[in-house]
Amino acid sequence: MATFKAIVIEKADSGQTVVLKDFDEADLMEGDVDIRVEWSTVNYKDGLAVTGKAPVVRRWPMIAGIDLAGTVEKSSHPDWKAGDKVILNGWGLGETHLGAYAQKARVKGEWLVPLPATMSARDAMAVGTAGYTAMLAVMALEKHGITPDRGPQIVTGAVGGVGSVAVALLARLGYEVTASTGRPEEADYLKRLGAKEIIERKELSGTPRPLATERWAGGVDSVGSTTLANVLSRIRYRGAVAACGLAGGMDLPTSVAPFILRGVSLLGIDSVYRPRPDREAAWRRLETDLDRAKLEEMTAEIGLSDVMEAGRLIVGGRARGRIVVKIG
Ligand code: NDP
Repeated sequence: MATFKAIVIEKADSGQTVVLKDFDEADLMEGDVDIRVEWSTVNYKDGLAVTGKAPVVRRWPMIAGIDLAGTVEKSSHPDWKAGDKVILNGWGLGETHLGAYAQKARVKGEWLVPLPATMSARDAMAVGTAGYTAMLAVMALEKHGITPDRGPQIVTGAVGGVGSVAVALLARLGYEVTASTGRPEEADYLKRLGAKEIIERKELSGTPRPLATERWAGGVDSVGSTTLANVLSRIRYRGAVAACGLAGGMDLPTSVAPFILRGVSLLGIDSVYRPRPDREAAWRRLETDLDRAKLEEMTAEIGLSDVMEAGRLIVGGRARGRIVVKIG
């Protein structure tokens, strides 16, 4: 019997159990590409899955982990052959399909994108779903015509994964960045990533007014709820906000005022089922537009046995930047 190490979530009467154990290769799900997983990462959704704080997992037993980077071992898919270096973000990995916190994965070839030539598997997982989502958000702002000359950008949840990468990307592209955080003690970190101004989360947490003084031309929001409503009320005429997260809540207590009186747009970002051409475009941009020294600065490395603790940290809003998981 061939087995490999994996973090397995099992359903129990009292909730769920999460254990690092040997998983039988014969129990892998259907797929046309076998991958030797080398690196993974801990995203907010991974935190929700391993702590059981939200119903992310839809099948049991489940191998957790929504992101992987590794090498193709075997493939019957026309696009991939043994030895290819690949990345997988989302597509239900760790939710409906056995996931990334394992030495081996069997997946559909159509879910994969090639590892960019100048990136290591570790770099790609330092970016991970959080960073690739930040890139999609920045690309959505660009597509909407939000260029640096239009004015400053706001990034909420700035010390988190999506936020840190968004700050670094926007700064590198010449935007003036305001970073909003509940951790003002991380101001130096945010400035090193490129933020020009730091504001405290509480500035965006009061009861939102329909309209407030115009301040930012655009922004990337990973918090949602009252924070996003307060951001929308402060967006300049014809500006836009890319909404990608719900770290502060799933509600949105806003009004139509910013949309119909200032022509503000709310751009929805989903990374999980994003079609492959968009993914490849985002990864090409990450290769050129994300400063690798800044990526390294925001990244901490852990092993498989530390994933539970990292999951608790991230859902508690206490993780900084990105966390990579060494699998190999
Ligand atoms: P992180 O935990 O790394 O970052 C979230 C940040 O939000 C925290 O660091 C904190 O920033 C802030 N925050 C946390 N709790 C609260 C709160 N109660 N009120 C206000 N701010 C809060 O997570 P990620 O960056 O990985 O993900 C952020 C969000 O984006 C999550 O909701 C995640 O599910 C979502 N997401 C969505 C994707 C998509 O496809 N749409 C893809 C990837 C992520 P600070 O300390 O600076 O205030």
